[in-house]
Amino acid sequence: MSDKINKEDGVQSDKETSNKKCIFCQIAKREIISEIVHESDNFIAIKDINPVAEGHMLVIPKKHFVTLLDIPNKLGNEMLEFCKKVSFELLEKKLGDGFNLVMNNLEPAGQFVMHAHIHIIPRKEDDRIRFLVRV
Ligand code: AMP
Ligand code: ZN
Repeated sequence: MSDKINKEDGVQSDKETSNKKCIFCQIAKREIISEIVHESDNFIAIKDINPVAEGHMLVIPKKHFVTLLDIPNKLGNEMLEFCKKVSFELLEKKLGDGFNLVMNNLEPAGQFVMHAHIHIIPRKEDDRIRFLVRV
């Protein structure tokens, strides 16, 4: 977590809001082509390039934050609202009868892309998707 982030409320100060080398920053700025399925002022939802199920989406803040802990609380709430919209639409489109939200935070937890994001994975009965750990 950046030391320029206030740990209490995650208020962002003069921290860089974009990282030139970060693939999700580049996608958010449309420097790299990706299918942006949903967009709001602060978020995009894209299709995961390596989906574990049809409709697997990633919800990504347009600004560069590394983990959940770096995201200001207000924006974090907005991120959850955005996830609800995307999830609702996946159900409406019958891509799943249920869904998982997964967020990997830092490398030991399986985070490969160091720009905070939430996976939305549509689920169906007997889809054989297994997570490494059952929570
Ligand atoms: P993780 O950091 O482990 O939570 O997961 C990163 C996810 O980003 C993986 O599921 C990748 O398949 C996905 N991913 C990486 N690069 C791209 C890309 N250019 N477009 C869409 N998804 C991507
Ligand atoms: Zn980034």
